[in-house]
Amino acid sequence: MAQRVTVVGGGLAGSEAAWQLARGGVPVDLVEMKPGRRSPAHVLGGLAELVCSNSLRSDNPANAVGLLHEELRRAGSLVLASADATRVPAGDALAVDRERFSALVTERLGGNPLVTVRSEEVRALPPPPGLALVATGPLTSDALADEIAALAGAGLHFYDAIAPIVTAESIDMGIAYAKSRWGKGSGDDYLNLPLDEAGYHAFVDALVQGEKVTPHGFEEARYFEGCLPIEVMAERGPEVLAHGPMKPVGLEDPRTGRRPYAVVQLRREDAAGTAFNLVGFQTRLTWPEQRRIFRAFVPGLANAEFVRLGQIHRNTFLEAPRVLAPDLSARERPHLFFAGQITGVEGYVESAACGLLAARAILDRLHGRPFRAPPAATALGALHRHLTGEAHPPGYDYQPSNVVFALFPPLVGRHRGKAARKEAYAERARKEIEPWLTAEPQPSSSPPP
Ligand SMILES: Cc1cc2nc3c(=O)[nH]c(=O)nc-3n(C[C@H](O)[C@H](O)[C@H](O)COP(=O)(O)OP(=O)(O)OC[C@H]3O[C@@H](n4cnc5c(N)ncnc54)[C@H](O)[C@@H]3O)c2cc1C
Repeated sequence: MAQRVTVVGGGLAGSEAAWQLARGGVPVDLVEMKPGRRSPAHVLGGLAELVCSNSLRSDNPANAVGLLHEELRRAGSLVLASADATRVPAGDALAVDRERFSALVTERLGGNPLVTVRSEEVRALPPPPGLALVATGPLTSDALADEIAALAGAGLHFYDAIAPIVTAESIDMGIAYAKSRWGKGSGDDYLNLPLDEAGYHAFVDALVQGEKVTPHGFEEARYFEGCLPIEVMAERGPEVLAHGPMKPVGLEDPRTGRRPYAVVQLRREDAAGTAFNLVGFQTRLTWPEQRRIFRAFVPGLANAEFVRLGQIHRNTFLEAPRVLAPDLSARERPHLFFAGQITGVEGYVESAACGLLAARAILDRLHGRPFRAPPAATALGALHRHLTGEAHPPGYDYQPSNVVFALFPPLVGRHRGKAARKEAYAERARKEIEPWLTAEPQPSSSPPP
């Protein structure tokens, strides 16, 4: 009989991983603390609960997440099959009836002879020698989070302060200028968007007046002083931002030789420079307000296309590139694997995809095979590049990320226009994913979803 694997947490990642392990013929104990104990955001009793939106985002493969849907379907994903079966009309988004979705995942896992579902809060990390996968999500219960913190040291974060990211091609390069403060590094690592005094004060007023997201009860406003939301800094005084993240010193505009009143600094998000984040701009402004205010008040961003918007929320996540090996096992305790939002992927689909990656890594380990990473140019590969840090420039401050084309290796050759580039990413991924999927040994006879 194959060695049993314990999967802790029956959310998106844990459910997908348990299914993939069972498909590979491995008996699984799936341990989920619900319904006996729930995080402050979970309300349903079943597995794979969507805690907020009922959307798995765009199903169009011209988007990175739509491409990830396609790859997951081809890989026999339980989450995608269950989403397809419980789909509700939502344009090109894959939205679901969340209760039917969770019920279906629960039923399919419960009916799989290789999966034993146990309702129990796991308070300590499973000991060796058996392999275990931890997929307890952004709201991991406290006792287990303490254990994970002891394992990860400074590599475990509890709050997530996310700055918005814009595509490089949507920045007005006639306004932006490349320069690092005091010419540090290679001298032009950052892009700077200059504001004059009147423009700066109009921006600060807009931040103060803008609509904010109300924190959940369990997300009391416990901000770190070094990581305050921009609107909180703006509320503390009209000049606070100009002395903080918008400080212009050492950033004279080379075109005028003069120092602007304030700057918005943009830092590369990927090695290829296809996307930039607004440095220090973590915020609790609502997403529509962020789009409105940044486009209207930040020179150079009038046509900004946002790859990600700013957020601050409770989110337990590991600094995966440091704490985890490429096969998603803990460097310090190789019998423990991690998957889902706790590894620093962001979103329902990405979490399920990460569960699939971890399950395949566990299957490799159990079969005594070397771990085979997904091909870099696929959506699964892009997520893996994020988890290993390969997609990010040196010194990158690891933050949770959705799957976006900025995580893919750059395209080779000329592709005129955005649509052609997206199609080229998708075509390249399709060619590469197939051999990776089909080179695996045949799954066991457990029924497809
Ligand atoms: C408030 C909130 C809103 C969000 N909104 C969205 C959204 O709209 N769209 C989106 O794509 N993403 C959203 N996310 C992110 C979302 O959590 C992830 O996308 C996804 O659910 C993560 O999947 P996961 O499997 O890693 O974790 P989860 O889906 O959270 O699953 C973790 C599971 O582990 C269980 N668990 C926790 N601790 C233990 C323990 N000690 N023992 C046993 N079981 C345990 C939990 O009960 C849970 O079922 C949101 C997150 C939060 C916190």
